[in-house]
Amino acid sequence: MKQAILSAVFIIAVNTSFATPLRNWSDSSRVSIPEPAEILSEIVKVTGLQSNFELKAADVLNIEASISHKKRYILYNPSFINWINSITKDKWAVMALLAHEIGHHLNGHTMLKTGSTPELELEADQFAGFVLHKLGASLEQAQEVMKHIAKTEASKTHPGRSSRMAAIQTGWTRASGADEIIAGVNSGAQPY
Ligand SMILES: [Zn+2]
Repeated sequence: MKQAILSAVFIIAVNTSFATPLRNWSDSSRVSIPEPAEILSEIVKVTGLQSNFELKAADVLNIEASISHKKRYILYNPSFINWINSITKDKWAVMALLAHEIGHHLNGHTMLKTGSTPELELEADQFAGFVLHKLGASLEQAQEVMKHIAKTEASKTHPGRSSRMAAIQTGWTRASGADEIIAGVNSGAQPY
């Protein structure tokens, strides 16, 4: 598992042309959808994080978080991104995917060397739900990606779709609760 991830990074190192901006992808359905890098910067902004994630197009199955030489990577397959964009026709699916991968990094999953487990996936999904609420997604928009990428049945590495959608809902709801608390504080504030 680790070897596979490291080799993906190595491929980028020796074949930089594969990691250049994706100007040649001319699928018209993508026109109104921001590039993954722009979406990542939106997420980083709303979470108040330092932007220390290296986002790279790579020869990976779909999208994954990994660490190499203490650097945090999010590696994505451009064809996979195009595919999900062409189905959903808005930015929320890729936003959920990137937020999920950041969730793996922030929760320390990439340090564990276990690869994907259902428990870790649900933690990352909760984080994605939280972030998508912060970025203005409805619950349905936050969950949409799972209708396309999650299998109905659980596997050894990933929970089934309904569990994953529930995890997104948990995170999304937690974010809405935080907003209510802030709103409550503000409405009760006295002018100084
Ligand atoms: Zn994951």
